[in-house]
Amino acid sequence: MQNSEHIHCLIIGSGPAGYTAAIYAARADLKPVLYTGLTPGGQLTETTEVDNFPGYPKGVTGPVLMEDLKAQAERFGTQVRFGMVTKADLNCTPKKVWVDDTIELTADTVIISTGASAKWLGLENETRLRMNAGGVSACAVCDGFFFKGQEVAIVGAGDTAAEEATYLSKLCKKVYMIVRRDQMRASKAMQRRVETTANIEILWNSETADILGKETVEGVVVKNSNDGSLKTLNVTGFFVAIGHKPNTDIFKGQLNMDDQGYLVVQAGSTRTNIEGVFAVGDCADKTYRQAVTAAGSGCMGALDAERYLATLGH
Ligand code: NDP
Repeated sequence: MQNSEHIHCLIIGSGPAGYTAAIYAARADLKPVLYTGLTPGGQLTETTEVDNFPGYPKGVTGPVLMEDLKAQAERFGTQVRFGMVTKADLNCTPKKVWVDDTIELTADTVIISTGASAKWLGLENETRLRMNAGGVSACAVCDGFFFKGQEVAIVGAGDTAAEEATYLSKLCKKVYMIVRRDQMRASKAMQRRVETTANIEILWNSETADILGKETVEGVVVKNSNDGSLKTLNVTGFFVAIGHKPNTDIFKGQLNMDDQGYLVVQAGSTRTNIEGVFAVGDCADKTYRQAVTAAGSGCMGALDAERYLATLGH
């Protein structure tokens, strides 16, 4: 174990929330150190075009947007370091964290922006086409626009899937909703909306057997689990909405979280149940999950951290 280094303001995670927190913290002279996690830039590095982040009238790719945010954070003096925070003891003063199980750090304040990860089915072609920006996505609001006038499929039966199917139905010619049971988990109101939308077809008791296409999605093979029959949907986009998992496991038992692991913050702030620890972005937000809302909460986190440090006389 290496000797402990003391950090004034530690930021964990490198999505839009983390980098925005870093921009504000650095400009307030909090001397932030940001640890990126294993995917520097976070979820957006896995998307292609981002058309809805304000300030980019012609759109921007996810990786470029994240590089821009990083450069902006570094311009004001943020130290961006590659590394994964693997353990934390937040109940002591100063807070203690460990990076890659070996580096021990102490910090006066910690801003958690560890994000959430979309769940995927795990099919080989799903991974391949997702990685190649071939029309597999876990965010209809981000990517639905690229399938305007086309036929798409979405898998899932919770509120997210129902909401995204409805969103897609306004843009696309037809939306197939692949539901694995004979009922949905989504709220009754959301279900009714899906069931009464003319261009959404629900495929009950169905699972995704394969996704076809070399460069881009050319079809989806669906298996009926009652009779084992296979059917190919001629779609060009495949959306996965089977839930997200917030990256908060290392804070279990210390920070308040809901039953799905999302960190709970005090209303109208980014304050967690531990003084000096703030949660921003998707790790504390299961509702909006947008780059711009994450960035906004990152700003709030830095301002909350600055005020907290001021109360300590730092
Ligand atoms: P959920 O966990 O609620 O739903 C996941 C859905 O995906 C379930 O229908 C599940 O099926 C299905 N699923 C899981 N794994 C697979 C798989 N391998 N193959 C096929 N289907 C699969 O996640 P959501 O993201 O929908 O919602 C998360 C939370 O956010 C919920 O509490 C929800 O209410 C909330 N939310 C609220 C909204 C709102 O109020 N406007 C909007 C969006 C989300 P099964 O049912 O069979 O388990």
